[in-house]
Amino acid sequence: MAAAPQRLFGTNGVRFVPGVSHDLDFVIALSEAIGTYFGSGELIVGRDGRLSSPALANAAMSGLLSSGRDVADGGLVPTPALEFAAKTMGFAGGVMVTASHNPPQYNGLKVSGSDGVEVARLDEQRIEKIFSDKSQTRADWKSIGTSRSEPSVVRNYLNAIVSRVNRKLISERRFTVVMDMGNGAQSVAAPYLVESLGCKVMTINSVVDGEFPGRGPEPTPQTVGDLASAVKSMGADLGVAYDGDGDRSIFCDETGRVLWGDQSGCLLADYVLERHPDASIVTSVSSTQAIETVAKRHGSKVIRTKVGSVEISRTILERQAVFGFEENGGCIYRPHVAVRDGGMTTALMLECLAARGMALSKALSFSVPTYYQAKSKLPVDGRKVGAVMKAVEKQAGSGADRLDGVKVRTGEQSWVLVRPSGTEPIVRIYAESNSQEDADRLVKKFARIVRSASA
Ligand code: MG
Repeated sequence: MAAAPQRLFGTNGVRFVPGVSHDLDFVIALSEAIGTYFGSGELIVGRDGRLSSPALANAAMSGLLSSGRDVADGGLVPTPALEFAAKTMGFAGGVMVTASHNPPQYNGLKVSGSDGVEVARLDEQRIEKIFSDKSQTRADWKSIGTSRSEPSVVRNYLNAIVSRVNRKLISERRFTVVMDMGNGAQSVAAPYLVESLGCKVMTINSVVDGEFPGRGPEPTPQTVGDLASAVKSMGADLGVAYDGDGDRSIFCDETGRVLWGDQSGCLLADYVLERHPDASIVTSVSSTQAIETVAKRHGSKVIRTKVGSVEISRTILERQAVFGFEENGGCIYRPHVAVRDGGMTTALMLECLAARGMALSKALSFSVPTYYQAKSKLPVDGRKVGAVMKAVEKQAGSGADRLDGVKVRTGEQSWVLVRPSGTEPIVRIYAESNSQEDADRLVKKFARIVRSASA
């Protein structure tokens, strides 16, 4: 029997360090496989602001052209703008060159179908098989693809978001919004969106820079201190920070308190369910139990998935759900496009605050029950992951949820989840409880188990 093809796709596309783990030849060959998988039609290629992204985007386009696909070059765009273009501008699919929130040396490729959503796991495996069998199409001189530039990706994306919210309601509130762009790709889109919704905008870290000198590409409550201070000193209504490719957004209330993605996700779920009371909410095993309370209020259901936005997006489409979210600040609003979208999320948040007529801190305590969370990530050698998870399973006992990693309910209002990352050699630990001390204690306890099993 032939060996299974090498896994290339992780939780969110293919990720690597260019020039170290893979080079441009790899990108060309992989893109030939991607073009072969699509078989026909024009594809759109976009890229984030990483230093290696122009080179990788050119290599990706070369591979797609070589396989016979026609290619439109969307240029530097946020990932959700590229995905929206794949869905709405007549493309067979899209390829985004990005490593999202990973450190600056990383890069990668995300593949979307004509619905804008990353292709399903089975389709990723088809691409991997074409790649490993070297069965990709190499077009002859007559059928090689043609390329053109497509400059309207960001404009279409912004117009579509504005059309999804009540612009008049938002602009009447004359919000002041501080936006921490994190030197990432939303710099070319989101500030213009918020301005066009009638808000006063102040930006920080707004120059696209592949070294991410501002606060790094990952917005977390720990990295967005400058945003929180700016919101307070400006007397702003709201702060928002994006990750490197602009699909995730983290909010900060008018007092400078930074919200976990779970909190903003639950608040927006509550707001969306008011308008779509029969709809379901989709979220992964790693997010808050508060969403069950919110959904119950509307007679709605929560569908849990494995961690990863692809799982959530695909489930939203299959189950006709309207809204989904991740604890890391990724929110998905299907009426726009069923992918995480920092721009759409920002517009929904502004509309929610305008409709409620409340400051963000008030709107949150009005909608979302308070739980406390703690998280940790520990480096674990890939070869030790099996032993680590075995040790965690032993501790968790038979009642554990094994949908993704090991999730164990430790009390009436508390749980812990331990799972290996799909993109990095680390194991993540998440805990939630009705007190911060208890959440911290749970993370420490399981971190000790992980450490001793990986030693
Ligand atoms: Mg991202």
